[in-house]
Amino acid sequence: MPCSLAAGPAAGGTSESSEATTTTRGARGPVAATQPKSEALKAQGIEDLFHSSCVPIVDEGDEVCANCGKHGSDIVKLKHCNACRIVKYCGVDCQKAHRKQHKKACRKRAAELKDEQLYSQGHERPEGSFCPICTLPIPLPMHEHSVFNVCCMKRICHGCDFAAKRRGMFDCSFCRTPLPETDADMLVMIQARVKKKDPEAIGNLAERYCGGMLGLQKNVRRAVDLWQEAAELGSTKALGQLGAAYYDGRGVQENKAKAVELWTKAAVQGQVESRHKLGCCEGERGNYDRAARHFMISAKNGVQRLT
Ligand SMILES: [Zn+2]
Ligand SMILES: [Zn+2]
Ligand SMILES: [Zn+2]
Ligand SMILES: [Zn+2]
Repeated sequence: MPCSLAAGPAAGGTSESSEATTTTRGARGPVAATQPKSEALKAQGIEDLFHSSCVPIVDEGDEVCANCGKHGSDIVKLKHCNACRIVKYCGVDCQKAHRKQHKKACRKRAAELKDEQLYSQGHERPEGSFCPICTLPIPLPMHEHSVFNVCCMKRICHGCDFAAKRRGMFDCSFCRTPLPETDADMLVMIQARVKKKDPEAIGNLAERYCGGMLGLQKNVRRAVDLWQEAAELGSTKALGQLGAAYYDGRGVQENKAKAVELWTKAAVQGQVESRHKLGCCEGERGNYDRAARHFMISAKNGVQRLT
């Protein structure tokens, strides 16, 4: 019975035809789904002739242009409004013509979609937050509970690190490389991985420039460039640090909106510090409900202090 797959959207066909010029989008999909199967099939009627390919229709809801009411078919391809995804159009002209009428609802839904994503994603901590040896999450702040080895750019929990030392292993307990003895050695190791485009190494070098460490001359502008590069290569930590640089105007023109944008991007990927900062920003604006939602997530992931 593969044809029954088309019953949902097609079942709305008969009622749609009488109101083709309206743009109302009721819950016709679910209504059709609650109809007895035989009735739904009957309602499908003549539409079946046009749906003879038996290809399941992936999109739910009305297959009709919100502006002109034209039905979608093999020839008329309807496309979602990218911002809200609640209406479809047969073409750019219809989308433009409908813009004024649709704008308000579109913005509202787009904001809802953004919030849904913001609060539903990033509840798990990102990969680098787990000790690669025991696989347990490293408590926050991570630098107080772990060591970071630049040979492999791995953060190892204190427990595993001590356990290795007790066994007489004083090299990196993850990759067994002898640990660097001097700042210069350490810098060489970091730079070797920076050359290989390791985002963690690039982010690490940024921190060294920011603090003027390992014999490097302090250069916050350079640090920001490196965080930018590391973030582009996938480091969520760098994304959060870049956000902080924009927020404080360190090494870059202060831009609070850009900071929030970057923190949002990092937070939905589980970067807890960024999640926490978003909570702080909302709190400062008096949006306590939104602030609390962020703090619930960051607290669940181990942020204990309000900063
Ligand atoms: Zn149209
Ligand atoms: Zn829209
Ligand atoms: Zn461990
Ligand atoms: Zn190592």
